[in-house]
Amino acid sequence: MGAFSESERGTSEKRKRGIFHRMIIPFLIWPDHRNPVWPDHRNCRFGRTIGTVLQKAAVSPIVEIYGLKDGCKSQAIREGRKIKRRKDSAGRRMAEEAEEKTVNELAEEEARRFGYEELMRDCTLCPRACHADRLSGRRGYCGQTARIQAARAALHFWEEPCISGKEGSGAVFFSGCPLRCVFCQNSVIAEGGVGQTVGVEQLASVFLRLQEEGANNINLVTPTHFVPQIAAALRLAKQDGLRIPVVYNTGSYERVETLRLLEGLVDIYLPDLKYRSAEPAERYSHAPDYFETASSAIAEMVRQVPEAVFEEREDGSVLMKRGVIVRHLMLPGLGMDSRKVLRYLHETYGNRIYISIMNQYTPMRRFESFPELNRRVSRKAYERLVDFAIRIGIENGFIQEGGTAEESFVPLWDGTGL
Ligand code: SF4
Repeated sequence: MGAFSESERGTSEKRKRGIFHRMIIPFLIWPDHRNPVWPDHRNCRFGRTIGTVLQKAAVSPIVEIYGLKDGCKSQAIREGRKIKRRKDSAGRRMAEEAEEKTVNELAEEEARRFGYEELMRDCTLCPRACHADRLSGRRGYCGQTARIQAARAALHFWEEPCISGKEGSGAVFFSGCPLRCVFCQNSVIAEGGVGQTVGVEQLASVFLRLQEEGANNINLVTPTHFVPQIAAALRLAKQDGLRIPVVYNTGSYERVETLRLLEGLVDIYLPDLKYRSAEPAERYSHAPDYFETASSAIAEMVRQVPEAVFEEREDGSVLMKRGVIVRHLMLPGLGMDSRKVLRYLHETYGNRIYISIMNQYTPMRRFESFPELNRRVSRKAYERLVDFAIRIGIENGFIQEGGTAEESFVPLWDGTGL
């Protein structure tokens, strides 16, 4: 270490005497700081004190006016900025807390008004049964509080033809998901990272607006964790003239008791049956009980809507008005499991339900832990599955033609229509 310079020694001696601790009023030490023997005070306590005092007094421009030596001045300004940042972030935190409080209060008010307070206070809506107090802003596995969050409400053209029709399906995409499969194509909203909060009445208005825009139906996408809120919104919308069918579009990890809340409100059930075996269900969806749970849920859906009803239009198109379409998305390497799923559905329901065999699996990212998911399903494997379906006697079904879906089929989660 080199020798002390004149200025450092001076500062050190003054510190020893405790002068700097007392120098709060600028003009008392002003002459010293204009003294050229103290040319630059990068960590000058005086500068910090001045910055603090001036920032607290909201007169930071005064630092400029006094014309402090460069080191002190920049130290004062830096300190002032630091305090301002702290103040800003404390302010932001307070605003967020206030907003959260308001959101929770609104959620509580709605829950009381529409009669689902108890269900949200100790949530067991889905088989995860987290017992989360969602009314107090807690989040369970689905990632959602009691206030509805959704990412988009718009006409959607990529469902089965009898659902989308030419005019499109009025799809409302809810944020969060109780299943959260690793290969999810909509993982951004499933994880609850996007979306905006929507009140029950506002949701009812969204349904009515989609009807006005010409939607063939209201398509509730991943609605499980908001069933009581959605049921309340549907009742309001129906009172105000909602006439188009309501589609419940789900991954099928559902409790029968929850589905019963929708009896008479849903016209078309569009559930998945993803796996027959526990192993892939655990590996990809953390739900080894998936098949037992989903098959009971589908049985309840068929009980509520036992018959398929279609409307044939003059232009030759056909729209579903009531019924159940079970979807099965083929995954790479799970051909045998897919066959078991199709056999189970056909043996259990015959031609009472429709089966949609999908090949649109697209890896949305590179999987380190699931390398088998890093490819699409081959055309040959898909065709073999379709041949199998025909061989076992499935007649009411949908297949996908052409290649797998492109990423562009994933809509923008920008709050459109909410
Ligand atoms: S709906 Fe959400 S909070 Fe409720 S049990 Fe399911 S995952 Fe848990």
